Amino acid sequence: MIARVTLEIALRKEFDYAIPPEFAGQVEVGSRVKVPFGPRQVLGVVTSLLEASTHPNLRPVLKIIGRQSQVTPRVLQLARWIAEYYCCPVEIALKGVLPEAVRKEAEGWRQRLFVSIVPPSGGMPKLTRRQQDAWNVIEEWRELPLQELLRLTGTTAKTVRQLEDLGLVAIRRKVSERDPYAQEHILPTQPLRLNPEQSAALAKIQKAIVAPPSSRLTPHASDSVPAASRTFLLHGVTGSGKTEVYLQAIAHALEQGQGAIVLVPEISLTPQTVERFKARFSSGKLQTLVAVLHSHLSAGERHDEWHKIRQGRARIVIGARSAIFAPVDPLGLIVVDEEHEHSYKQEEAPRYHARDVAVVRGQMEGAVVVLGSATPSLESFYNAQRAKYALLEMPSRVDDQKLPIVRVVDMRKENRKGKGVQIFSQQLKEAITRRLEKAEQVILFLNRRGFSTSLQCPLCGYVAQCPNCSVSLTYHRAALKLLCHVCGHQATVPQVCPQSNCANPAIRYSGLGTQRVEETLGRLFPAARIRRMDSDVLKRKDDYRRILTDFRTGKIDILVGTQMIAKGLHFPNVTLVGIVHADLSLHIADFRAGERTFQLLTQVAGRAGRGDVEGEVFVQAFTPFHPAIQYARRHDFPGFYEQEIEFREQLKYPPLSRIALLMLKGRNEEKVMFSANHVRCQLEKELAVLKDLIIAGPAPAPLARAEANYRYQIMLRTRQMTQLSRHLARLTESWSLPADVVLSVDIDPVDLA
Ligand code: ADP
Ligand code: ZN
Repeated sequence: MIARVTLEIALRKEFDYAIPPEFAGQVEVGSRVKVPFGPRQVLGVVTSLLEASTHPNLRPVLKIIGRQSQVTPRVLQLARWIAEYYCCPVEIALKGVLPEAVRKEAEGWRQRLFVSIVPPSGGMPKLTRRQQDAWNVIEEWRELPLQELLRLTGTTAKTVRQLEDLGLVAIRRKVSERDPYAQEHILPTQPLRLNPEQSAALAKIQKAIVAPPSSRLTPHASDSVPAASRTFLLHGVTGSGKTEVYLQAIAHALEQGQGAIVLVPEISLTPQTVERFKARFSSGKLQTLVAVLHSHLSAGERHDEWHKIRQGRARIVIGARSAIFAPVDPLGLIVVDEEHEHSYKQEEAPRYHARDVAVVRGQMEGAVVVLGSATPSLESFYNAQRAKYALLEMPSRVDDQKLPIVRVVDMRKENRKGKGVQIFSQQLKEAITRRLEKAEQVILFLNRRGFSTSLQCPLCGYVAQCPNCSVSLTYHRAALKLLCHVCGHQATVPQVCPQSNCANPAIRYSGLGTQRVEETLGRLFPAARIRRMDSDVLKRKDDYRRILTDFRTGKIDILVGTQMIAKGLHFPNVTLVGIVHADLSLHIADFRAGERTFQLLTQVAGRAGRGDVEGEVFVQAFTPFHPAIQYARRHDFPGFYEQEIEFREQLKYPPLSRIALLMLKGRNEEKVMFSANHVRCQLEKELAVLKDLIIAGPAPAPLARAEANYRYQIMLRTRQMTQLSRHLARLTESWSLPADVVLSVDIDPVDLA
């Protein structure tokens, strides 16, 4: 037999190797193998098995990695789809589907010495006191790790060796599985009684989950259910009890003999979230291991978690983006919580979007997919409108609590009071004072973005826009230029605000970070206990938990933070949420700026009033009448969707098209520009077949220069992305760009700014 193998080092090519007799029957499609390649030995994945090869003198497979094949046929099929759609070599896609710790050649299991009891054959010999102490513990445990025994008894290894010499115990090297949650005390939970909205949603999901082929009465029973009715968009406001619906849907899948994958944005994958899932399936007749996959685990823990899934011991997986590749088989359900989150997009090759991969995987494997969010992405809601997905609505909170009152504060008026540019409005200051007096808690939120900024007038709120692209122009302070990062349009920085009734000479962006907010707060409320939480503060992994615990237990009065605190957290005593500068995310050079702002405001507002006291939200803005702000104020998602989709339609932005973003990078700006122009000409010539194609750029990327590289981008828009991807794969192969200019392709990018 012959194995066809893809190698990580040789892209877009596969090589045939002979399977030597000693490995007969052990090499499968999906096996990871070590093979000779020139003078080296390299690792690869078997993609098919053949009877014969056209190449003479095949070299042999040297080694099989792991006891089981690592890429299941279904995950292999998914990897092939990713390679094709996201325009990357199969090897790169395959690299993305296995955790690093699993791909390694070295054995990944941790071996430890275990002490186990050997039933005494004759009478019990006389023991010293130390020996007796150790023996008592061993007798009670029957078997335990040597280190653990030494810790419990305070004795030395020598004592244990003496017991071994007496024939009372055996000391053996064994695999010891790591459990990242071993320290947590998890109390089992029972399913809650669902309210009518939850019941209705669950019933539809359950109906779509059908037993796998082996236990089906008629073969392919599920084939009669069209794929569309097996992908759901669960639109439920924060606190509507979506998680409980997920839990009961998973229980149903388990009852049908199938497993489940739950995707959660990395940032929401807190111990509390994981515990909710573990607690439900830790006992009872549906008991199963819940495996967790995310970047905070050690490599060893990730290795062990993955193998628990591969061996079928863990039937439920909860994890961040890459958990979508977990080898759960059979797979009955995929949940993507907070489906609108941009962190589901991988920013390096393979540049896949885990939500979209989930939908594709669901279709390939006949699994039900539930996309959940309080603020669905325009893409998903559009699909639901067109009946590609089935829409499930849960418009009220579980406990019938009201959504918080949202007040929008016009910061232009505040700044016209003549005391200079203020961070806090009078109204917000007074509200904070009132809450602190009642010993209630406050969250202040600043959605500051890193590098790209717009030009905004602090008096009238005017923001410079591109006349062609409907995105904000980016202010390049050093060059004193305004630049559109989609089409390249340039403008000079005005001396005074161009609004004729304003003409403010002080038009300039006034930088504002969480740090400055924290300092100002300290001055305004000297008695309050204030903590800041943003990625600068959270360099250490435990800080996040500690700050949240302190906040929960009332040791902090005001929490100041970025996106991090907008996510699924539940604090009953928070009655006031302030959004310091709501416009910041509005004026980035990205057509999704409005959508993102709406989502952020809605999510943040959802943090207030989750206890018994009604919540209050203050949104400070320089453009208070912007639709994203006004619809968020009224908690009106459909209203926002209607007006936003109209804008997308007009400019042919997603979901009315799909985008491919070509990025060219290099140290020599002229060469990069020249190559970018060359690429554009080629695209125009070669892609005329795609009638609806729109080509914009080249233009400098929003991050115009990074790590000494100049970055230029070209944006392509079409409805026929599968075709465009295919063309791009062919074209990018054929172009010969200068060696120091690198081209990358990002399909369905989420981050343009
Ligand atoms: P979401 O995920 O939609 O924000 P959650 O599932 O976290 O909402 O639910 C919010 C709170 O309501 C949780 O504390 C949850 O335990 C509780 N809850 C959910 N469903 C019910 C129910 N049917 N009865 C009582 N409490 C519920
Ligand atoms: Zn433009």
